[in-house]
Amino acid sequence: MAKTISIAIDGPAGAGKSTIARRLAKDLGYYYVDTGAIYRTVAYFFDLWGVSPKDADAVRRYIDELTVGIEYDEEGVQHMIMNGMDVTGDIRTQDIAQKASLVSAYPEVREVLLDMQRNIARKHNVIMDGRDIGTVVLPKATVKIFLTASPEVRAQRRTKELQAKGQKANYDQILKEIQQRDYQDTHRDIAPLKMARDSVKVDTSELDIDGVVAAIREIVNQKVAP
Ligand code: C5P
Repeated sequence: MAKTISIAIDGPAGAGKSTIARRLAKDLGYYYVDTGAIYRTVAYFFDLWGVSPKDADAVRRYIDELTVGIEYDEEGVQHMIMNGMDVTGDIRTQDIAQKASLVSAYPEVREVLLDMQRNIARKHNVIMDGRDIGTVVLPKATVKIFLTASPEVRAQRRTKELQAKGQKANYDQILKEIQQRDYQDTHRDIAPLKMARDSVKVDTSELDIDGVVAAIREIVNQKVAP
């Protein structure tokens, strides 16, 4: 099998990873793999069963009852399948994001999801975004990007995004949640959010989407012949 190309995009919540990765995947004709959605699916599973993400015993006991599937529709949109059920829309809440940040800290949870992520990258050219893609999931990724922005800019963007969807959004609360998630994601023992040594840092605070896409395209073009 021909060697596949993988572009890892890591960074904190709200840095613009999914927007940028989706655009790049479309431009390049690669699969876009949103790994945050996988952890959100796990959190949603425990939420449905009334298991607190802080209850380590219960998380360990019931994780084997969960099967997570990723499917792509004709438009290339990623769908999350939880025990046979499409939960793609259900996982996109602030509450589930917060719970995902807690369940993702368990080694038992990360372990069962690792092969699944690697298998997709083995079969397809991918742009994979998350927290540990360049450091743990795909340490040999062709290109590694660390996308970041100040917590205030990220909170502003998230607030606007939710308001545009007609959802209630309070900037101060969102900023607090982002800071809390940053803390949890960077301080956990296993696969914490950190920049891989061979990763290129792109700060999106002062750039719009087109500017970020252009900056990353340039980095990608240096490693992968266009
Ligand atoms: O990216 P998103 O906000 O959807 O991620 C939700 C949570 O899932 C993150 O806060 C993080 O704790 C966890 N996650 C992770 N590793 C990844 C992707 C996401 O631990 N590769």
